[in-house]
Amino acid sequence: MSDPRITYLLPCSCGKEVSIELRQAGETVRCECGQACAVPTMREVRCLRPAPASETTPADTKPAWGNSQRFLVAGLVVVLLAAVAAIILYRQSPTYFVGLPSPEAERQFVERLPILATLQYFHQRILPGIDIPEPAWVQSKRSMVSLGMATLSGVGAIGLILLGVGVAGIVRRR
Ligand SMILES: [Zn+2]
Repeated sequence: MSDPRITYLLPCSCGKEVSIELRQAGETVRCECGQACAVPTMREVRCLRPAPASETTPADTKPAWGNSQRFLVAGLVVVLLAAVAAIILYRQSPTYFVGLPSPEAERQFVERLPILATLQYFHQRILPGIDIPEPAWVQSKRSMVSLGMATLSGVGAIGLILLGVGVAGIVRRR
């Protein structure tokens, strides 16, 4: 009889009844009419009329969500958000001069060119650009993007940990 999930009906002065649980003893609940009703002590709550089974909310009959599921969902949400943010951030990253991502990529690109094309490339791209440093805004934007990426990988790692905790909890319960 002392099942903590039993719902009791607390009469309000308006004539309606508020569904309460034993654990709410001593708290204040709000009736549909808007009035605050004080829940009596546990002993007095047990003397109230229990709600018929049909009046209890479905959440009471279904097994409550465990912490594992919460961890799992929280981890999934965090990982997904971090991934989306990382993709958006990656698209913001500036490209190095001729549309290549880095000086290293440019070096590899030039190495693969035939000799004549290398010469042309040198005259068209390198010669005019020699001694011209990357503009300050490109540098600051690049460092901003890499800082953001580092932060997002930290957030993603936390999400993965949450996910792992959730999965481990669910597997253990089986
Ligand atoms: Zn009321």
